[in-house]
Amino acid sequence: MTFRQARWDEPLLWELRPPPEETGAVPALPGIPERMRRRRAARWPELTELEVVRHYTRLSQMNFGIDTSPYPLGSCTMKYNPKVSEQLARRPGAAQLHPAQPESTVQGALEILWRLERALGRITGFPEVSLQPAAGAHGEYAAMLMIRAYFRDRGELERRTEVLLPDTAHGTNPASATMAGFTTREIPSKDGCVDLAALRAAVSDRTAAFMLTNPNTAGLFEPEIVEIAATVHDAGGLLYYDGANLNAILGITHPGRMGFDVAHLNLHKTFATPHGGGGPGAGVLAAGERLAPYLPVPRLVKEGRTFRWEYDRPRSIGKIKAAYGSFGLDLRALVFILLHGEEGLKHVARRSVLNSNYVGKRLGELLPRPFRPLVKHEFLLSGAPLKARGLRTLDLAKRLLDEGVHAPTIYFPSLVEESLMIELPESESRRELDGFVAAFSRALGDSDANLRSAPHALAVGRVDEVAAARHLLLSWKDLRARGEVPAGPAPPSDGSGKA
Ligand SMILES: *Cc1c(COP(=O)(O)O)cnc(C)c1O
Repeated sequence: MTFRQARWDEPLLWELRPPPEETGAVPALPGIPERMRRRRAARWPELTELEVVRHYTRLSQMNFGIDTSPYPLGSCTMKYNPKVSEQLARRPGAAQLHPAQPESTVQGALEILWRLERALGRITGFPEVSLQPAAGAHGEYAAMLMIRAYFRDRGELERRTEVLLPDTAHGTNPASATMAGFTTREIPSKDGCVDLAALRAAVSDRTAAFMLTNPNTAGLFEPEIVEIAATVHDAGGLLYYDGANLNAILGITHPGRMGFDVAHLNLHKTFATPHGGGGPGAGVLAAGERLAPYLPVPRLVKEGRTFRWEYDRPRSIGKIKAAYGSFGLDLRALVFILLHGEEGLKHVARRSVLNSNYVGKRLGELLPRPFRPLVKHEFLLSGAPLKARGLRTLDLAKRLLDEGVHAPTIYFPSLVEESLMIELPESESRRELDGFVAAFSRALGDSDANLRSAPHALAVGRVDEVAAARHLLLSWKDLRARGEVPAGPAPPSDGSGKA
């Protein structure tokens, strides 16, 4: 199997020929006043259909996407986005809704949101769910505000200023806690899991919350989760569950049962809605009894057979986003849940754990695997042996791109030297897993010189990230000024005579 990408050798859009000047009457829609019409025809580039098709097809091939090859990004589950969800989300009844439409005109859409909330409530084991946050980090931040409001109501806010996090925490966790006004404190891991003794020593009457992912970002299920929850609760603190990636536990267990008080979920990871490149997200919040009254308004309520927005929640932290959720993503996530059903979701969990253990075992023969070998949905490798060759994990990641697979997550979590974090979700078949192992092994076995200079087969080689940030090239004019685009005919303009 090969995952090779198309190369980019063809003329770029800015080299296209402008059309000959046209004169005469410019057709316009009826009703557009004479003085507002163009004097000259717009100078659209002249192209054949085939040229246009090739241009856009090649552009699409310059990018990695889940539709062309595996995307083994640990901690950021990249799974197949079923096309049936795309079709449904594009229907006019879904795509042309306006967030400010009167409730009476969007009852069907509200029912979709309501059903998703109920389904996610069952999946998380929490009674109340809000689809409002725009992304995982936004959900975390909102939850931290809810925790603040909770302690303010109890008169403990002055004292409870500290949020604890394990050293495996995703970077957004400490950022969200800090933005919400807490100080953060790191709890060290032991063998990849929370060191319970260190946690016991750290909790106090200053503890507001402990933020945890389980299974954690090392792919390990915290065996002492019950003791962890009791330790934090006994000190008067709350437990926050980072559920960005729920793959390993879908339908098997849930944060409610583990003793957590609030969670966020990423529909754009676990529930197969598209993401990447800072695209749309959905960072759902789910809360237990203690924190549910603080969820953002509006809340979606059902009365009889009617759905409506409710704003009258005096303890709510308020509104956190202009529109409620991201309807297209919410619809796609509900479709994913309904297509699978309860048994199907359990299968997702079992299959993702199986995939990760299969690939983990095989790649463990090539590079060292830290911690215990039995993992959940993802696993870690250490690229430290590459250092003997004067190479780094970064070189291996870049060389993998030449094989047509996306690189795994690298250098996170930082407790493993030269770490690689790999996740191949349930949507990848045995054939794709074997293809990935073979690609990984070829990359690792390549010459030092090739690894150091990779990638070789892509549109863009090794990027100088500092220079790219300092000297932004944002248009064809910048490129032409640097002589990177041959001086040819003027690029297409809007007809105003100005480029
Ligand atoms: C992706 C991720 C987040 C943040 O989610 P965003 O939607 O990117 O803001 C938080 N925690 C974990 C473990 C994640 O993988």
